[in-house]
Amino acid sequence: MKKHLTLWLGTILGLFLLTGCGLNTAASLPPLPTAAPTGLATAVPTLPPPTVNDGTAVANATPVVQLPTATEEPTVTPTITPSPSPTPTATPIGPCDARMPQDDLFTIVTQTYGLSRDYAPQDLVLLTDYLPVDVTLGYPTELRQVALAPLIQMIADMQNAGLQPWILSGYRSYSAQAISWEKWNREEPERAAILSARPGHSEHQLGTTLDFGSPELAGIVGIEDIEFHTYFYQTSEGIWLAENAHRYGFTLSYPRSAQELTGFFYEPWHYRYVGEEMATFLHESGTYLTEYQLINQPEPCIP
Ligand SMILES: [Zn+2]
Repeated sequence: MKKHLTLWLGTILGLFLLTGCGLNTAASLPPLPTAAPTGLATAVPTLPPPTVNDGTAVANATPVVQLPTATEEPTVTPTITPSPSPTPTATPIGPCDARMPQDDLFTIVTQTYGLSRDYAPQDLVLLTDYLPVDVTLGYPTELRQVALAPLIQMIADMQNAGLQPWILSGYRSYSAQAISWEKWNREEPERAAILSARPGHSEHQLGTTLDFGSPELAGIVGIEDIEFHTYFYQTSEGIWLAENAHRYGFTLSYPRSAQELTGFFYEPWHYRYVGEEMATFLHESGTYLTEYQLINQPEPCIP
């Protein structure tokens, strides 16, 4: 993990976008509380040193010029010293996919930062080969190999605690996301942008992201067969994940307080694997991944 983190910090990455799960999401999302997003400044990471672009601040204070009164001879012509213009960082802007190592776990994916349409992870495995059908529900869900062992351990620990976690969705290709986006855009054009993600802007394309479900959800929501709903956070599985997923390297991508920054609704079922070190750091510092990524903002790139 340390190696990944170090590698990442040494390499400025440039991709990302949010995920909106929105495959079968019930449209009946309750209104969000107007919780103020935690300010970036309140959650400056202390573990991995943020990359700071020093020397780019523009000194733009306007000099105050006192006009002479009619009876006074102007004796001094105020001179306005132009603010020193910052040296433009002549960083060449390259294609996003050229800056995305296949094994990177922290690539940013939001409504603003997208993934190349050509990006597909190379180490996907089929979860039905590793987990029982009462977890996968028989869905052909794929996940990157790097997150497999931690996931299996987490599921086992959940079951040992008497829980019944479901895995509803995992890797989604660019084209699969395009189909999902089209559906949302057709059915709920006003809300598609926050309920789903445009192709290239879903964390599911990374192959490290999973949507979890709970058999308790339908009873809580009162809708039979419902798979996704904000009330997942009230289920035993949702509660357990919120408290423990970081110990296995998973982090909640879109917490309630993050909507303004991520552009996505609260998705208590959507977890992304970032490794135990990063996930624990985020959990303990009260930071969420997008927030961390934006503090350590990579240079722009051409999608
Ligand atoms: Zn999701």
